Amino acid sequence: MKRFFIIALAFAVVLISAFFLAEKFFPAETYLLKNFIYNNSKNSFPAPEKDFFELNSDLSNLIENGAMLNDSLLLINETHPLPENYSPELIDLGGIYINSCAKEAYHNLADDIKDFYGNPLYIMSAFRTRDEQIEILESGNEYAASVDSSEHLSGLALDVYVKYYAGMGFLDSEEGQFVNSYCQDYGFIIRYPYYGEHITGIPFEPWHLRYVGLPHSKIITENKLTLEEYIESYIPGEIYHYENYFISRQKPDKIFIPEGLYEIVISPDNTGYYFITGKQ
Ligand SMILES: [Zn+2]
Repeated sequence: MKRFFIIALAFAVVLISAFFLAEKFFPAETYLLKNFIYNNSKNSFPAPEKDFFELNSDLSNLIENGAMLNDSLLLINETHPLPENYSPELIDLGGIYINSCAKEAYHNLADDIKDFYGNPLYIMSAFRTRDEQIEILESGNEYAASVDSSEHLSGLALDVYVKYYAGMGFLDSEEGQFVNSYCQDYGFIIRYPYYGEHITGIPFEPWHLRYVGLPHSKIITENKLTLEEYIESYIPGEIYHYENYFISRQKPDKIFIPEGLYEIVISPDNTGYYFITGKQ
């Protein structure tokens, strides 16, 4: 019996010292540099609890390590309206304001349209204030969403057109057909696709682009999904892979990021979770 206690005591001492040594060598701050090996034989698996970042305390540390926090995956609709105090980070494109995270994608798309067809891709409407959205509603525009459920409040939605071709007529132009066929390669989706009206509640809008970022735009389009279905398809806490991308939808209090991940984007989804996207 005595020998058993000695062995148990020795075992406990080893365990406790291992714990303190691990704390010393791998504090939370250095987690991004820590080796993390996991079994990738399945597409997804529950992330280990112990390796989570505390989002509130460590977000600045993540950003210092190159992570970007943006609004790209906010789900905005009648059941998930934006909070009244929401205010996006905007940039000015000559009098039209868009969410800053969509800037590069818009320029890439507009540059290619210009190269291929010689015409500029214009933005009719992007960011709208609540007051502007109310004004549009009061004017009886059948397409405008109710105040806080409009994506235009986030600046993530761009209503685009080319000269002579706007609205449904946008599809009659080569540029409109290009945008509707390839916008996903730039990080945009057709937010209200012809196949999604029964889910979005909004008829096909071939001019309303929504920035979600890569690779989400590709996955959504390749699988003919709406943003609603896409967000809901992620089981919180699980890890998903697409090409060399890591994607995970996680609780906001603790964020898990594997070692070696780069080009990290963290976005709330407006349903109570955060999306973590990065390259491996
Ligand atoms: Zn729109």
